[in-house]
Amino acid sequence: MLTLSCLQPSKTRAAIPHELHPISYCFRRPSLSLSVYSTRNQSNWRRSLCIRAIDAAQPYDYETQIYERFEQSIKLRIAIVGFGNFGQFLAKTLVQQGHTVLVHSRSNYSDIATKLGVSFYSDPNDLCEEHPEVILLCTSILSTESVLKSLPLQRLKRSTLFVDVLSVKEMPRNLFLQILPPEFDILCTHPMFGPESGKNGWGGLPFVYDKVRIGNEESRVHRCNNFLNIFAQEGCRLVEMSCAEHDRHAAGTQFITHFIGRTLGKIDLDFTPINTKGYETLLNLRDNTCGDSFELFYGLFIYNKNALEQLERLDMAFESVKKQLFGRLHDILRKQMFENDEDLEAPQSNNGAVDESPQSQ
Ligand code: NAP
Repeated sequence: MLTLSCLQPSKTRAAIPHELHPISYCFRRPSLSLSVYSTRNQSNWRRSLCIRAIDAAQPYDYETQIYERFEQSIKLRIAIVGFGNFGQFLAKTLVQQGHTVLVHSRSNYSDIATKLGVSFYSDPNDLCEEHPEVILLCTSILSTESVLKSLPLQRLKRSTLFVDVLSVKEMPRNLFLQILPPEFDILCTHPMFGPESGKNGWGGLPFVYDKVRIGNEESRVHRCNNFLNIFAQEGCRLVEMSCAEHDRHAAGTQFITHFIGRTLGKIDLDFTPINTKGYETLLNLRDNTCGDSFELFYGLFIYNKNALEQLERLDMAFESVKKQLFGRLHDILRKQMFENDEDLEAPQSNNGAVDESPQSQ
């Protein structure tokens, strides 16, 4: 445990590095002490934060500087590439957390950028020359390859962390490994929520990540952890998972969800005075999924190799349930038909049966 006495009081709780769970940081008043508890990687974290135990009397400013250095060390300079629906959604939280956010997109979003407090660069050369520590790719799944290939990578710092948030994971992973120079770090992520489902906060929502390639240098490990802490700090449930495993799960969950939501969007479901809870769940599902671009939905289908199989399973399931219904209906109809036949036959046979006289034989 390390203790810093007489620290500048903190405004907020410090970010809890995800890697170091279980860990806790606390800036306490009025004792104004910072305590760091860790069960693993403690020495790394100590070194990377440059925190030392200070028992001897130190000028107040010196400790303020240490505190500021600590604060500084967890703030990142992040460039968002693709400032559409999801890019803007993420930018709001990044800005709120005090990170420096630069953005670039095909369309001109200067006004929105100004409102959100981020800098807009229409030319990717200018963006890269600002030397962001992190490039956060928020482009559509379909355009990712062309956007990535169009970035002037030579203008970036030799070690830059590339992160994507695509809803499919194997495709960007392979692209990054193929296109990015070996000195660049790669973190593939998928926040499993969007502007609609995350509008009331991200607490408890899953955030999947795969550290595809993170250099051993302390600063690179630290940078990656700081990025992950953005989501940990918002209360997301961080799930480390390979890109391949993500895609297997996502085809059975996310793709099916979007498919059903979009199918519901094709029939006019109205709000009624007698909505059941179940029905309202369907309305929410429709609204959550139909708000996303069709390009996103198509990307989920075309760039997840498991999606087609899930679609076929869904198709078979629809048929099977329909068969069950129509099978029962068929049974009833058949029964009625036979009953009718019997009814029809009965009077005949009655007439016939009555006539048992030997003459009729
Ligand atoms: P989207 O339709 O998937 O992507 C829109 C973004 O892609 C915009 O920034 C757009 O730029 C850019 N773009 C599209 N075509 C382009 C092209 N040919 N060249 C350059 N840029 C192009 O919608 P989104 O909801 O914003 O999603 C962005 C990414 O986040 C996707 O990869 C998606 O899978 C992922 N994601 C989305 C959600 C969600 O709930 N929406 C959740 C998790 C992850 P302009 O606007 O400048 O045209």
